[in-house]
Amino acid sequence: MSESVTDILNWIAGRPVVAQSQAWLDKFNPHNGRLLYRVSSSSAADVDHAVVAAKSALAEWSGLTPVRRGQVLTDIVALMKQRANELADCIAVETGKPPQDAKGEVGGAIMQGEFFAGEGMRLYARSLTSGMPGKYSHTVRQPRGCAGLIVPANTPIANIAWKTFPALICGNSVVLKAAEDSPRIALLFAELTKEAGLPDGVFNVIQGLGQPAGAALVEHTGVDVISFTGSTAVGRWIAATAGQRLARVSLELGGKNPFVVCDDADLDQAVHWAALSAFSNAGQRCAAGSRIIVFRSIYPAFVEKLVAKAESLKLGVEAGCDLGPLINPRQHAAALAAITGAGNAGAKILCGGGAPDSEALAGGYYVKPTLIEGVDPNSGLSCQEIFAPVATLYSVDTLQEALALANAGEYGLTAAIHTGSVDRAMWFAQRVRAGVVNINIGTYGSEPHMPFGGFGASGNGTREPGVEALDVYSELKNISFLVRSDQL
Ligand code: NAD
Repeated sequence: MSESVTDILNWIAGRPVVAQSQAWLDKFNPHNGRLLYRVSSSSAADVDHAVVAAKSALAEWSGLTPVRRGQVLTDIVALMKQRANELADCIAVETGKPPQDAKGEVGGAIMQGEFFAGEGMRLYARSLTSGMPGKYSHTVRQPRGCAGLIVPANTPIANIAWKTFPALICGNSVVLKAAEDSPRIALLFAELTKEAGLPDGVFNVIQGLGQPAGAALVEHTGVDVISFTGSTAVGRWIAATAGQRLARVSLELGGKNPFVVCDDADLDQAVHWAALSAFSNAGQRCAAGSRIIVFRSIYPAFVEKLVAKAESLKLGVEAGCDLGPLINPRQHAAALAAITGAGNAGAKILCGGGAPDSEALAGGYYVKPTLIEGVDPNSGLSCQEIFAPVATLYSVDTLQEALALANAGEYGLTAAIHTGSVDRAMWFAQRVRAGVVNINIGTYGSEPHMPFGGFGASGNGTREPGVEALDVYSELKNISFLVRSDQL
């Protein structure tokens, strides 16, 4: 794709629309810092326009049978498959992730669509018994109404798919607030929905900043359910604001995920998965394994291998590179400041520790894979998400100590343990405070049919994707009727 500056617009009622204020944001290429797009900077007026369009389209869409809605989703998925390369190219350019990662992400989004398209034929609720003779009772799922979806840029098409497909299959219409750092992929997806026959107004996109555009969506009284993926600080504000009007809220927030390596682990496997957990997608994953907790007896051997692995990783945007740049200059500066702060506080930087020296990467927002030891477990670096390829290392003597460290802090999204012992693995898995636990693999999220979400500050208890997502986007209605035997 060419890197000439493109205008990225909102998508309302089935067509591209410029923000009413005619204001624009600059979007830079993370790989080289060059201007990539001008993005419509929306305000409350644009959000209102989109919500009105979504409300107008609701009766037609929710009036279709779930099976028919599933067929439309199947057509969207077919177009995603046809245009998979175009979608992946767009993601690669706007996020800076290597092409194989962008393709993998599109594949994940397609599977998500396939799963929820099939749910059109399985939008089950329950049949219930009754204490009253002759009374029959069952529940049905009905749409909430207009769904306000707010996503970050780290895995943009996956984030869009995780929310849009379950919202649509349940019969809702959608206003998506695209991530300001990955705006074009939302627009490409919108074009596909129209081509697949989704009625105009059922899926709308608002471009712009969290404040004012995202906030206006949260505050709009016409929005019946808010589904947000992003930082815990913003999630807290959304819960308080949308909670005032009793809108349903689903929050998928941050993580500071522990990766435990026991003294009976397969060391090479543990190193392989630790590096992927900490550094893939340049560490910009809510599920990133950013705290690596290792039994003391194997600590030196493990660290030596992990440092060697980290130093072997290739940075860049070409095929085969292991990690790309961070998404924007703000995240880049914050990551570099966190590393410098750790060094100043007496921690030891084992590898990485800053931007790469290579001239080819000089204009981009790159951070070398960084491992740090000697960090106070209660310090900011141990407790706060960095969202960069930066992990801290800790040594422990027992599994109990590893668990206590894993459970320290306010987050509880994912956790991994490497051990040859089923007893150790299951003892840990049952006690660790995390919504996802992986044994002898990495701190990765779920598959399209598996629930994903976290404890504590990682969310508010909802799960996406999996069938659990249907509970976010539908209301249950209980219907009963009486069979009168005197009327036969
Ligand atoms: P962010 O919270 O700054 O922004 C996320 C989205 O929310 C963006 O679209 C942004 O414009 C919007 N936003 C910002 N302020 C808003 C407001 N006041 N009202 C409404 N919308 C607002 O997060 P980020 O830095 O872009 O993304 C990284 C965060 O996302 C990390 O904390 C990461 O862990 C989290 N995340 C969580 C998951 C998960 O499934 N749990 C997945 C991916 C990312």
